[in-house]
Amino acid sequence: MTSDNRPETQNEPEALCHNSNIPLWLVLLDNIPTAVLMVFGALIITRLSTWGMIGYLIYSLVSIIWFWAKICPYCHHYGTLACPCGYGVISAKLFKKRDAGLFKQTFKRNIGIMFPVWFVPAAAAIFLLISTYSRDLMLLTAVFSVTGFIIIPIISKAVGCRNCEIKDDCPWMQKKGSAAHG
Ligand code: SF4
Repeated sequence: MTSDNRPETQNEPEALCHNSNIPLWLVLLDNIPTAVLMVFGALIITRLSTWGMIGYLIYSLVSIIWFWAKICPYCHHYGTLACPCGYGVISAKLFKKRDAGLFKQTFKRNIGIMFPVWFVPAAAAIFLLISTYSRDLMLLTAVFSVTGFIIIPIISKAVGCRNCEIKDDCPWMQKKGSAAHG
């Protein structure tokens, strides 16, 4: 069923997804910046605390597994090669498929798990820049910020999501659309 409770037909997302095959370069393009973000986030936090850095890396890993468990099983790309970052395939190996009609609300309810991966290192960087400024720290902060707040959103919206068959059903793309119109 679709999110508005209509039965799916051959021309609707579920069928289209199984015919799509995202190229490897796009999967890498989606995942490498995320890995860079986490490494630079850890490098920033370790200046405050080694245990904090270890906690950040564990949290980052858990947040991705949470995404596979709580969001991907509701997605039309679950278990298909149409998922732009490959999570849909991994999720299908670990977690059971859920009702795709509930994707919107489950996405909104669970996407917050990812926010600390961005905002905890950003807060640590601001604190450190104020308290113990150095050029190295400034460089780490610049790479982290450009990757997390410019490169990842651009890749996600301009490449990964732009041609997605289910973008009209995705809260992430709807937010962009309403911002553009609003
Ligand atoms: S498109 Fe997003 S929600 Fe859907 S399977 Fe891929 S990572 Fe998960």
